[in-house]
Amino acid sequence: RSNVEKFEFQAEVSRLMDIIINSLYSNKDIFLRELISNASDALDKIRFLSLTDKEVLGEGDDTKLEIQIKLDKENKILSIRDRGVGMTKDDLIKNLGTIAKSGTSAFVEKMQTGGDLNLIGQFGVGFYSVYLVSDYVEVISKHNDDKQYVWESKADGAFAISEDTYNEPLGRGTEIRLHLREEAGEYLEESKLKDLVKKYSEFINFPIYLWASKEVDVEVPAEEDDSSDDEEKSESTDGEEKEDEDFDKEEDDEKPKSKMIKEITYEWERLNDVKAIWLRSPKEVTEEEYTKFYHTLAKDFGDEKPMAWSHFKAEGDVEFKAVLFVPPKAPADFYESYYTAKRSNLKLYVRRVFISDEFDELLPKVLLILTRYHLMYLEKCFNSTSSLKTIKKKLLRKALDMIRKLAEEDPDESNDKDPKQVEESEENDEKRGQYTKFWNEFGKSIKLGIVEDAANRNRLAKLLRFESTKSEGKLTSLDQYISRMKSGQKDIFYLTGSSKEHLKKSPFLERLKKKNYEVIFFTEPVDEYVMKYLMDYEDKKFQNVSKEGLKLGKDSKDKEIKESFKELTKWWKETLGGENVDDVKISNRLADTPCVVVTSKYGWSANMERIMQSQTL
Ligand code: ADP
Ligand code: MG
Repeated sequence: RSNVEKFEFQAEVSRLMDIIINSLYSNKDIFLRELISNASDALDKIRFLSLTDKEVLGEGDDTKLEIQIKLDKENKILSIRDRGVGMTKDDLIKNLGTIAKSGTSAFVEKMQTGGDLNLIGQFGVGFYSVYLVSDYVEVISKHNDDKQYVWESKADGAFAISEDTYNEPLGRGTEIRLHLREEAGEYLEESKLKDLVKKYSEFINFPIYLWASKEVDVEVPAEEDDSSDDEEKSESTDGEEKEDEDFDKEEDDEKPKSKMIKEITYEWERLNDVKAIWLRSPKEVTEEEYTKFYHTLAKDFGDEKPMAWSHFKAEGDVEFKAVLFVPPKAPADFYESYYTAKRSNLKLYVRRVFISDEFDELLPKVLLILTRYHLMYLEKCFNSTSSLKTIKKKLLRKALDMIRKLAEEDPDESNDKDPKQVEESEENDEKRGQYTKFWNEFGKSIKLGIVEDAANRNRLAKLLRFESTKSEGKLTSLDQYISRMKSGQKDIFYLTGSSKEHLKKSPFLERLKKKNYEVIFFTEPVDEYVMKYLMDYEDKKFQNVSKEGLKLGKDSKDKEIKESFKELTKWWKETLGGENVDDVKISNRLADTPCVVVTSKYGWSANMERIMQSQTL
């Protein structure tokens, strides 16, 4: 090999590789899933490029968008090849070692605190799982814009790159050669690989082939009973042999000239059938298939089912098919990456060609929030802004419907005043508490949606849950609050603060509690923002009870009292000084506490001041 250049892995990548190579993790199978997923991504990319430039596909075998797996038992090599976009020399250096992805250190941290290696794909470092089973790996790659190169590493802190002048030319794409460790011999068994591909790659959109052995019957000349005869024959002349043949023909039944024996040959065996789940009729797709499909796409290989899914076909101006999922739980960095993450798990396919998973401009933010880790596949075309708008609207509507249904089906959600007749059944038991579960995982998404999506604010507000002075430790909704409102009550009362316990002791509550008004507790920092945007619900105004201007219905004595204490309030205001207080007033919100400091109607609440100081959302 000539022109070998050596590189050191970026420090975090090196640490990650150490962890993987020394891992006692028992489920080493996952490396295959990661390699197939990378191959599929690379194929998606070239197919996308070919939409505008057919030339990129080349000709002959290079046009076949497929994945091939080969075993070399003798040399203990497992290789996976794709005809995807390939990598240039520069890509190889950057993608496989010198630039750490954002998820790298997060994943290293997770692993050090006993995290599950199975999640590796979610952190964007799936490739390195090859070192679970190999001690030496070669990546041979050919990109249209460059020559063929080999990347190789023994995971010893360094990797090498050289121009490939010795392997068979790939045409285009990538071949990963795994030199398997002694104890990873099982991955040289065809049956094992077939099982794994079935298990992990059922929903990969490209054909996957295995160079598989096959027993075939072949016809061979029958051995003669008398071997001396044979010898004679071989010595005989051409002419004599012809005579023999003629003779055999006549006696075919008694003495067969040939027989069938079993022989091993090799051929490409297709392991998956490419069927897009979203194109099938929902009636034909089983719960298990939806679950598996979700696991493949979310790179979430736990055994939990998605909380809900919605599979539908939109008709009318724009036709498309989609599957939306609510994942079983929000990923760890779900909200941290909310404003920065570009890639969503929302994937757009047009005529079965992957188009994009970058949706910041294509879809309203709220849908992004709801779907960043929800998955959707769109089929069929759209090519104008107006159809885009329609798609946005329909997807959002469906996503919200799906979530509303989660609540409706949950027996725990039934309204106290109007208890649903809930049958005691197994199905209901399974659904019991599902909305609370959803709320705990994704409630903040709904709140951020209220802030950002004016058009759907009311629909989202319906999905809000909170505790209140009357919810008895459970979650309640605005609809339930309204159903409990006192006659004559016009506003919805709420209080914001750092915890429920804290708020329960608030002097602002005294009078309201005595008069039997219900007050909502908002205890998350984001709630302050939500309440800046959520002005009313079902014609009822929201009223922060810690702010100036709280009205608890008319009181005829109000004016009289105000007059008689005028001198006192004036004295207080002068004594405290204009810098410290805006005003001093007679209040009707207190029962036992003599006085209270409130914020002005349009100013920040005390809680908001606290949040602004700590700068956390
Ligand atoms: P991810 O797939 O989440 O990006 P990986 O660690 O699995 O993370 O892969 C790292 C990068 O290496 C990929 O983003 C891609 O750029 C490149 N890569 C890996 N495998 C292939 C392949 N078969 N063909 C082309 N590029 C690949
Ligand atoms: Mg990957």
